[in-house]
Amino acid sequence: MTQNLVTSVPGQVRAVSGRPAAAATPMEVWQGLSAAVIDAIAEDWYATQQKYRAGRMEHYFSAEFLMGRALLNNLTNLGLVQEASEAVEAFGINLTDVLEQEPDAALGNGGLGRLAACFLDSCATLDLPVTGYGILYRYGLFKQLFNDGFQTEHPDPWMEEGYPFVIRHEEDQRLVRYQDMTVRAVPYDMPITGYGTKNVGTLRLWKAEPVEEFDYDAFNSQRFTDAIVERERISDISRVLYPNDTTYEGKVLRVRQQYFFCSASLQEIVDNYVQVHGTDLRGFAELNSIQLNDTHPVLAIPELMRLLMDVHHLGWEEAWSVVTRTFAYTNHTVLAEALETWEISIFERLFPRIMEIVREIDRRFRTEMADRGIEQSVIDYMAPISGDKVRMAWIACYASYSINGVAALHTEIIKRETLKDWHAIWPERFNNKTNGVTPRRWLRQCNPRLSALLDEVTGSDAWVKDLSVLADYTDAADDAVLDRLAQVKQANKVDFAAWVKDREGIEIDPGAIFDVQIKRLHEYKRQLLNAIYILDLYFRMKDNPGMEVPPRVFIFGAKAAPGYIRAKGVIKLINAVAELVNNDPVVSKTLKVVFIHNYNVSPAEHIIPAADVSEQISMAGKEASGTSNMKFMMNGALTLGTLDGANVEILEAVGHDNAYIFGATEDELPELRRTYDPRAAYESVPGLKRVLDAFTDGTLDDNGSGWFADLRRSLLEDSYEPADVYYVLGDFAAYRTAKDAMAADYADQRAWARKAWVNITRSGRFSSDRTIDDYAREVWRIEPAPIG
Ligand SMILES: *Cc1c(COP(=O)(O)O)cnc(C)c1O
Repeated sequence: MTQNLVTSVPGQVRAVSGRPAAAATPMEVWQGLSAAVIDAIAEDWYATQQKYRAGRMEHYFSAEFLMGRALLNNLTNLGLVQEASEAVEAFGINLTDVLEQEPDAALGNGGLGRLAACFLDSCATLDLPVTGYGILYRYGLFKQLFNDGFQTEHPDPWMEEGYPFVIRHEEDQRLVRYQDMTVRAVPYDMPITGYGTKNVGTLRLWKAEPVEEFDYDAFNSQRFTDAIVERERISDISRVLYPNDTTYEGKVLRVRQQYFFCSASLQEIVDNYVQVHGTDLRGFAELNSIQLNDTHPVLAIPELMRLLMDVHHLGWEEAWSVVTRTFAYTNHTVLAEALETWEISIFERLFPRIMEIVREIDRRFRTEMADRGIEQSVIDYMAPISGDKVRMAWIACYASYSINGVAALHTEIIKRETLKDWHAIWPERFNNKTNGVTPRRWLRQCNPRLSALLDEVTGSDAWVKDLSVLADYTDAADDAVLDRLAQVKQANKVDFAAWVKDREGIEIDPGAIFDVQIKRLHEYKRQLLNAIYILDLYFRMKDNPGMEVPPRVFIFGAKAAPGYIRAKGVIKLINAVAELVNNDPVVSKTLKVVFIHNYNVSPAEHIIPAADVSEQISMAGKEASGTSNMKFMMNGALTLGTLDGANVEILEAVGHDNAYIFGATEDELPELRRTYDPRAAYESVPGLKRVLDAFTDGTLDDNGSGWFADLRRSLLEDSYEPADVYYVLGDFAAYRTAKDAMAADYADQRAWARKAWVNITRSGRFSSDRTIDDYAREVWRIEPAPIG
């Protein structure tokens, strides 16, 4: 670091604000401090890029990067938090207020996008030559507000006020050609600092712009709107994350987006290869590999074929040989019906040459399969083209040298079911890479009290770069350490209660158990099961005023996809339950329900350090991995969960004494389902009838939407789909037993703290550093390249 922040920040703030630092607004101070951070890393950032270009590189393609805030993360990684604090205090503002100015970069939906962000952090920390590629969406994931308990969606123009952490590189722009338009792709680079290293990685996000600022002819001939409409049509490409694709035009835009960032990124990667290694592209795969984060970037496969054949004149076989040694594919879902397909007509319309290449891939695939003696019906199922659709996942499976799932159970399920035909032919391509999360953001940065305790117990901060070292201290906690741990949690809960009061206007008791479920709203994740428990507990307390109930706060955070009405119904239901419970003069002394609006990375950083209980209650077999389960574990919350996704591995790491596992398992479910009758559960499981009747008997108000009746029907009646597909009523009794037992156990604070300590110290294998080390050695075959 060439300069101290205390000396550099005032000048940066003056440059941004045009006035003395002491007169600047908190937003201007955030801008200035952020600019000072960029200044501090600029030399190392450039040196890292030069170093990486010379050797073998990995490129991580993802339609989503859920980055959250950047400033505190960078200060933490660079060890500059104290210095930054002094720098801004010198002109009378505290660092926390400055940090709160920053918008979240919410360029993703949930787990998949956050995974990409955690991976980049680990790659930088491990000095690995990895670059992320995606889209600079002008609007990130919608902002969520509640209106009468209903979710409303609002645009999130996250960089409108200027965002110092992305830097435009006009000189690296590329042209992306469609049949009906040519678009300028302009890259914006975000630096990715690592912890305790000089290396600075890069996330490159592409923005779509017109080739010419303006069509002057149209403008001059008075066709003003024509000129503007065309401009806007181009800007649409990078305008929003996941445009609504219920219409055909919406689908066209989605495909346009996907091709946009794949084509721009590949042009750059190929150009770089030519510049550094010469024009013989046959060696490309020795120096480059590309990880496809789900199927959104699969168009990169035919696009690389096009570049190699049409621009660099390789023959089909040569090009295919390069392509099939370049791509690796990560699967994120077990549902075959959720795998992406697009109409052939969209491809024909946008890029006929790409469609031609896809047809040739399809033709050769069919020939190869027939030569292998594969049955015709199987070939038809697996082929890249089927009817009028292109199947992105099948192209990925055919062209990739590696196919991975994201938790041990998930990988077993894709091998056995989702991708079983592929596994039968190419078993060697399949491998598991259990997800992880970065301990920098999800422990060091968000939980300074626990971090200080870990530094003290282990004697250094080495755990921040190697979380597995904590395993040596599982048995090292005496009563003094456990009491300290309990105090840390308590202090975090006090802070969190103040944050909730300020943000949601609800008073909660820091002495209560904080029981948390935060994740996207989806039926398979079963927030409804949690809501049913709360309602049942409410009725139990009403019926039995003398009942001993440990005080609890049930905390939710979740966005529903705007078109997913049933998920929105669950949000409204939880808000109605909150209304009922929080306004009951007796029950509200013991229970509170809080739905944190606009759940995102920054709220997660406030919630997780204060959590006692981590709700991971998806129907077994449906959650590919989950990553919030790992963040909670690292922060000493105990898992209440099903044997699903990475919960299985969490249980393996901590043992049955330190997690609360319940419910039907993935291998039991098919048999259970055969005879499952949700109506019988409704009639026979004590309490269930009362709860489900409360959906529609006037106890809960859905403001005439009919949504609660729909939720009730979805559990009880085979109307348009079988009742209770996600086995909510089937698992309810087991869930209630486990959750009641867990709440009772909380009374023994020492014993609880010991369980929390086991969770924290055994969380090493859920660091994304472990995941990335596995990818680097087993899939990417890259080595650390420190700049010094
Ligand atoms: C970690 C994270 C997720 C993923 O949560 P799951 O419970 O694993 O689905 C989603 N959103 C945000 C903001 C996160 O930080």
